[in-house]
Amino acid sequence: MSNILVINCGSSSIKYALLLDDHDYRIYGLAENLGTPNARISGITEGQEKFEVELGQADHKQALEVAMERLKKFHFDAIGHRVVHGGEMTEAQLIDQDVIDHIKATSALAPLHNPAHLVGIDATLKMYPDLPQVAVFDTAFHQSMPEKAYHYAIPKKLYEEHGVRRYGFHGTSHAYVSERASTLAGQKNQGGWLVAHLGNGSSTCAIWNGQSLDTSMGLTPLEGLCMGTRSGDVDPSLHHFLATNLGWDLDRIDRMLNRESGLLGISGLSNDMRTLIDASEQGNHDATLAIEVFVYRLAKSLAAMSCALPQIDGLIFTGGIGENSAYIREKVIKSLPHFGFSLDSEKNKTRGQEIRIDAGTGPMIWIIPTDEESRIAQETRQVALNALETA
Ligand code: ADP
Repeated sequence: MSNILVINCGSSSIKYALLLDDHDYRIYGLAENLGTPNARISGITEGQEKFEVELGQADHKQALEVAMERLKKFHFDAIGHRVVHGGEMTEAQLIDQDVIDHIKATSALAPLHNPAHLVGIDATLKMYPDLPQVAVFDTAFHQSMPEKAYHYAIPKKLYEEHGVRRYGFHGTSHAYVSERASTLAGQKNQGGWLVAHLGNGSSTCAIWNGQSLDTSMGLTPLEGLCMGTRSGDVDPSLHHFLATNLGWDLDRIDRMLNRESGLLGISGLSNDMRTLIDASEQGNHDATLAIEVFVYRLAKSLAAMSCALPQIDGLIFTGGIGENSAYIREKVIKSLPHFGFSLDSEKNKTRGQEIRIDAGTGPMIWIIPTDEESRIAQETRQVALNALETA
């Protein structure tokens, strides 16, 4: 059980990666703009050369056929599908009709993602009916959250009858980076970690002895931090205010909160942190404000997450911003003055590498580049092996 194909069918894109056991490189690709006239696929071949092909107006199914055609000369033992919302599934699952029905039933909670995952699963089941295929859920890692962390303070019936609760996302990333930091620190998955996954989507997590005890995202990936284009937490009465005073319908409000808010909404300039840091250095007030809101809310969230942990052994930065931005890391640490963190400013200059960057006093601080594909492949391998053993 060595070569694993990982597939991530997003709302308008498909990512694939073939992880080969006897090579330290990966063969991967990205099909994007699916369903538009600009659909295309690009990636890295087995010779580690770049390729790019226009796909006309290809949809998910057509793009996947092109991707699989490119991969058909390779042997792989199992396919792992990333699935954003697994409801209350606690671990990765070997895909059968029950699992497909469950992903379908959970689509109301992830209407852009779960239907796209099902297209991918359906297509690869038809192409490789005899291969074990596994669904790895972004939500599963957070199923260890205690009741007090996952209940909203709303009538309990909404949870019991409609599944309205906090689920959390980025689970494969939080699991991967905390396990990695713990291993590098010689802690064998013991102790308490705070994680800041900072990309276009961002979330924090509190992890104790390898288990998620709380996380900032909730029913959907909109809750929590200020993100690239997502608002994160707002007063829940905002919907009522906008509907009553501006006449906005639910779709308009949802679009504003998911696509027009966050760093983009405050700066009016960009959702991209690099652009905002540059603009802020040139004196752009709104870019500076967006960064300040991002950092302040992140620090508040980490402080809140600390309530879940008996002790804090370390803080981990990951995701595009967390892995690459010394500037943001330094600002976050300065915004958490009561936790005893001390940053080594030289080590903090490191980008995109596993490194411990604290100055030796207080809790550890780590940069751990995330690798969701590796974690999905690991879980896929495990589930497929278990299935073989019990067959
Ligand atoms: P996604 O959530 O889509 O996977 P990424 O994890 O790739 O996103 O993160 C994208 C974010 O990382 C962008 O806001 C980008 O500006 C930011 N980023 C990447 N490199 C840097 C850098 N050197 N400094 C600051 N931000 C960076």
